Amino acid sequence: MPLYCENCMKLVEGPTCRACRNRKLREVEPGDFCMVAEVHYMQAEMLKELFADNGIPCTDRSVLGAGITVKLGVNVGFVRVYVPYDRLDEAKALYDAYFNSEAVFEEPEKRELSIGHVYRHFKGGLYRVEGVAKHSETLEEYVVYRKLYDDHSLWIRPKEMFLSPVDKEKYPDAMQEYRFEEVSEEVPDGAV
Ligand SMILES: [Zn+2]
Repeated sequence: MPLYCENCMKLVEGPTCRACRNRKLREVEPGDFCMVAEVHYMQAEMLKELFADNGIPCTDRSVLGAGITVKLGVNVGFVRVYVPYDRLDEAKALYDAYFNSEAVFEEPEKRELSIGHVYRHFKGGLYRVEGVAKHSETLEEYVVYRKLYDDHSLWIRPKEMFLSPVDKEKYPDAMQEYRFEEVSEEVPDGAV
């Protein structure tokens, strides 16, 4: 059995914990919380969720200390995440698979706008993107798009918003990921 430092909540090489100089090390027990990783607090939330999904109990400590976190009112730094010794290998494997894979830190896919193509709004209406216009005063880009039903009127909306995901909190039943999703290849002028 490896040795355990209760102060640091981690496995250490005896006879003294190098981090805190603790000499009262003991053999680790299955339920002893051991550190899996030290991560940014936002990653810690993801990690805790990941462990919860896998039924692994976990606890965490702010590296700055709880007092400082409370004083500042926000969690500013890094967090150490711990799981019981008997789940440590499993937790480390999950951590490696998830956090050390490139997928986690990839930029979200940059969506391109296809002029002349038809997009479906998440509420079901179809629209054709006519072009992108620049606001004369703010220089913000707007998508100009035409309703393909009712009065076929012309609408504009900030491009960033046009390409953004559906607000799943506001619309939990939305069937698509983005506010507008492309549904067809180019549709020539006058065809719709
Ligand atoms: Zn220690």
